[in-house]
Amino acid sequence: MKKQLIIHASLFLLTLVLFFGITAIPSAQSIAADSAHGPTWRVHDWSRPRPPIVTPPTTSTQQQAGAPPSDAIVLFDGSDMSNWRAMDGGAAKWIVNEDYMESVRGAGYVRTLQGFGDCQVHVEFMTPTPPRGESQGRGNSGVFLMGIYEVQVLDSYDNLTYADGQCAAIYGQFPPQVNVCRKPGEWQAYDIIFKAPQFAENGDLLKPALITLFQNGVLVHDHVEIKGPTNWCSKSPYQPHPGKLPLSLQDHGNPVRYRNIWVRELPATGAPDACRKELIFGEKQLQRFVGTYKNKSGGELEITLQQGQLFSSFPGGSSDQPLFAESDQRFYSKFVNAEYEFVLDSDRVRAIKVNVTNGGWDEYQKTQ
Ligand code: MG
Repeated sequence: MKKQLIIHASLFLLTLVLFFGITAIPSAQSIAADSAHGPTWRVHDWSRPRPPIVTPPTTSTQQQAGAPPSDAIVLFDGSDMSNWRAMDGGAAKWIVNEDYMESVRGAGYVRTLQGFGDCQVHVEFMTPTPPRGESQGRGNSGVFLMGIYEVQVLDSYDNLTYADGQCAAIYGQFPPQVNVCRKPGEWQAYDIIFKAPQFAENGDLLKPALITLFQNGVLVHDHVEIKGPTNWCSKSPYQPHPGKLPLSLQDHGNPVRYRNIWVRELPATGAPDACRKELIFGEKQLQRFVGTYKNKSGGELEITLQQGQLFSSFPGGSSDQPLFAESDQRFYSKFVNAEYEFVLDSDRVRAIKVNVTNGGWDEYQKTQ
């Protein structure tokens, strides 16, 4: 009797093991698609898409800037400042010489024409030699991600200042882990991984900005949560802002040089337009597009400018669509499938062509 009980119990246990053992193996369907996280793959799955091929960058030397990786957006290669503007969108007034650009006292910050959100940034900089001034007055400039969050540029080779304001500090918030500065007059490099902050529709902060920074190849910030806009002598809370904004470089009155600047946009999860080019123009450049446009069948389209942002609206139609610039004439909507192209007669805006939901281009003449 006792023997039988043991046999029964053993069979029961074996059944349990088999049942749970088998059901613990995921089905083919659950391997192919995990609805919450997109497709998942079998180990060593040959059908899994391979990463795109990128030619790696070449290393810079003190004498010569290296070449960017093949998939980078080159912002400055030493030739000109065509990818840069003054902060109001006008011409940038820094000096370009040999293979570098140099800040000019009083010329103001410069910013990229293109806006960026999540990105990898490579910047090389040189503080002046012989060094002049002390503390914050020596070789001061800065790399402003989204024009708001500053990675300090300063001559911190032999120059004491407050820790959260020395070279490679997230200004006013976090000193770098180590001081790995080269001497003034030597080229240094920042390699930055930046994740833009995310905001809810009501403006609440969903995720703070994140930064990882290598200075001269050495890790100085590791996945640091930025607390908000970086300011002198104050703490500021996050203010909601667009998902892409220009990168800017600071004029702090010291002639700091920059060379070999490039960016790689990092795709945000679930955002199909994350890597679509987005140029940021000033109000002056956008003003010429504002007006009422009419097509052959009498349909009207209104282009307005609100706080530096162009909008299109069809009278009696849906709400205004913000327009994002792909070139100085070509725009698109991020929220509906719509493309826009302004038609110029020499410099005057004559018409706009609109293609909604790939239905074909419709031309509207400017009436005022
Ligand atoms: Mg600065």
